[in-house]
Amino acid sequence: MLPPGSTIGILGGGQLGRMMAMAALQLGYRCIAYAPPGDNVAAEACADVFENGWDDRPALAAFAAKCDVVTWEFENVPLAAVAAIPADRLACPARALEVAQDRLKEKGFVAQLGGVAAPHARVDSEDDLLRALERVGTPGILKTARDGYDGKGQWRIASAQEAKGLRFPGKTCIYEGLVDFAAEFSVILVRSRKGEVRFWDSTANRHEGGMLVQSLLPAGALIAAQVPAARELAARTAQALGYVGVLTLEFFATNQGPVFNEMAPRVHNSGHWTIEGAATSQFENHVRAICDLPLGGTATRFAHIDMRNIVGEDALTAHQILAEPGEPHLHLYGKREAREGRKMGHVTRVGHAAE
Ligand code: AMP
Repeated sequence: MLPPGSTIGILGGGQLGRMMAMAALQLGYRCIAYAPPGDNVAAEACADVFENGWDDRPALAAFAAKCDVVTWEFENVPLAAVAAIPADRLACPARALEVAQDRLKEKGFVAQLGGVAAPHARVDSEDDLLRALERVGTPGILKTARDGYDGKGQWRIASAQEAKGLRFPGKTCIYEGLVDFAAEFSVILVRSRKGEVRFWDSTANRHEGGMLVQSLLPAGALIAAQVPAARELAARTAQALGYVGVLTLEFFATNQGPVFNEMAPRVHNSGHWTIEGAATSQFENHVRAICDLPLGGTATRFAHIDMRNIVGEDALTAHQILAEPGEPHLHLYGKREAREGRKMGHVTRVGHAAE
């Protein structure tokens, strides 16, 4: 067990790091963040921040020297930057990042473990795309294999005709058939250093324009029926990666069962409800796992939970939410610029069955 007063290093400077650092503070740890210069809102909850590039090896080494354990809140940390951190200080093997950073790799990895993904093909050129459209069919989605998030780097293609007007983005892509799903959900688990695994309840997740907007419990009968198989796959994935901490797998609930979409080797937006809604939040259990503390319970504490993201300029008037009935729990991330489509905060409403 990492003693109180130890230092946790966080690679990445966003809201996930900020909420992780808040949980770590409560357990008597201090955090320092490492991220390229920018709106690093995690820094406000950290004792120190290294604002350096991912290719600055001396800065990474100086950062690592100050940490007892290093984790990440951003899944696109370049592998070369992670390699500059001594392996015995990394909370979790870098292999998890390597797999999750590439949509083709993660689908292949999960398929090996028995998971089912959308029909897909690798696309490296416009000709590849035409072949992929023939093989996989339309409608579908072309996604950059790496670096996409919140619907960025994705193009929906309704027909082969439409694809002809599309300019190939010039980097490796994946073309996926559009999955006819009834709902979306995620499995969020925490795995300890000793290999103990605990799951939170799976919410129904609603996306708009490729970005999560809402997580809801109860999630409905279809999701509830598909969670056991999805959990098994998620646990196998965590074990195969030697994973330590919180891991998220996202699924489509279809009439043929759960279809794997993608994984995030980190705490996840669809788990923000756990701060107020579960016995132990995803952030606290992530800290507990990487610091080798006993894991906390993951049971849901309320009959109804509704987490909604606060996006763009909605954040400017978000304090008005505090006047609404039902004691909403408001979280604002302190981002300086309320750009359109940017996650600025979230609000969680909880209620008992009678409410
Ligand atoms: P992703 O960035 O892959 O998580 O995609 C974001 C969202 O876009 C998903 O949560 C879905 O709502 C939608 N989406 C992505 N891929 C597919 C697909 N193959 N079929 C249907 N919807 C998809």
